[in-house]
Amino acid sequence: MTDEFWSTARDRLIRYAANDFVPAVIERAAGAEVFDSDGRAILDFTSGQMSALLGHSHPEIVETVSRSIATLDHLFSWMLSRPVVDLAEALVASLPAPLSKVMLLSTGGESNEAAIRMAKLFTGGHEVVAFDQSYHGVTHASGAATFAIRRAGYGPVAPGNLVVPTPNPYRPLFTRDGRHDWQAELDHAFAMVDRQSVGSLAAFIAEPILSTGGIIEPPPGYFAALKRKCEERGMLLIFDEAQTGLCRTGDWYAFQRDGVRPDILTLSKTLGAGMPLSAVITTDEIEQVCHERGFYFGTTHVNDPLAAAVGLTVVTVLARDRYDETARRLGGRLRDGLLELQTRHEVIGDVRGRGLLQGIELVTDRTSKQPAGDVGAKVTARCLDLGLHLNIVQFPGSSSIFRMAPPLTITDAELDRGLAILDQALTDTAHQA
Ligand code: PMP
Repeated sequence: MTDEFWSTARDRLIRYAANDFVPAVIERAAGAEVFDSDGRAILDFTSGQMSALLGHSHPEIVETVSRSIATLDHLFSWMLSRPVVDLAEALVASLPAPLSKVMLLSTGGESNEAAIRMAKLFTGGHEVVAFDQSYHGVTHASGAATFAIRRAGYGPVAPGNLVVPTPNPYRPLFTRDGRHDWQAELDHAFAMVDRQSVGSLAAFIAEPILSTGGIIEPPPGYFAALKRKCEERGMLLIFDEAQTGLCRTGDWYAFQRDGVRPDILTLSKTLGAGMPLSAVITTDEIEQVCHERGFYFGTTHVNDPLAAAVGLTVVTVLARDRYDETARRLGGRLRDGLLELQTRHEVIGDVRGRGLLQGIELVTDRTSKQPAGDVGAKVTARCLDLGLHLNIVQFPGSSSIFRMAPPLTITDAELDRGLAILDQALTDTAHQA
């Protein structure tokens, strides 16, 4: 049965990335687990594609989708319904002023597309700056601001996409007295931006924790300094909280740690908790100016009621059940477990991240910090054998950084089981080498 499945898959599916499909036929998913065709439970430490924030088939999401599809599914793009307005209101209530205007779309790339268009229209500029390990999508402007994947082979991107080094505390480019001198790194980065710019800077787009780029957490103080650099140049700051938003890091939004407010915020993955839903949120002023200048982003699924109803349920459940606190508590448990593994597994060079978005970086030795080659791939395969799915983030030059982002609904026992499997897989892989 599964042989036929794989041969049809090979014959019929376009491959959309270099990495292979996970070698399991998934028949169903529930809570923090997915089940393969042998009925085997696999713990889902990636929340699907970092999206199933409330676990798979959460009863309240099932109820919302069932009710909505039967009563209010999809509308003309200029027709409004209550779930849209209610979700906009709920999102604004969860955010600091002056973020007060919301547009609902479908995917992360699309939300960044819209955010960048607004930034261009508002500032009159067209240049967009991003980190060199950024991931904001694969569409036109989002893809042009994405540097964590290979850009070769697709022809020219829009001119005016500039790049600055990702501030990586584990592998700092600039150091002083053995410490990461992020201020000097940032000053240098913007000196380079100023040299390259044709005087048309529109925005800086950033994830508060770079997820696909390796679970990199810029040091405290960095984003406040970055915001000042943007203000000095009349650029907007766009935070892309596709992965970090909505309680995952232990705060409602990861930018809260830094006390820095973006001019435009984009949400996606976690907002739909597995359904395609994204949002762009900005200030009254930016919305007003863009409107006066004829802003257009009328897509087929803009402000669609079914997706909005799901988002409203997600935000309501997160607030009612205090999932920010849950993510903080479980994040502490995950961190303690990973640090304990680091005391016994020499290959774990670094443990990082926040709340239920954490990562470990594997190295050949802790002094040289040489990436650990294919060890990560072997550990991943062994974890899958033992019933745990986690993934290695892949960007040019990376090889062994694991990302862990289980659903916020995971139990203590499931989290501990995942850690025990990772422990076993690291041990088995070390013996294999
Ligand atoms: N932004 C970030 C931070 C992401 O991680 C992703 C997806 N990995 C995107 C944007 C793009 O989202 P989508 O794939 O839904 O277009």
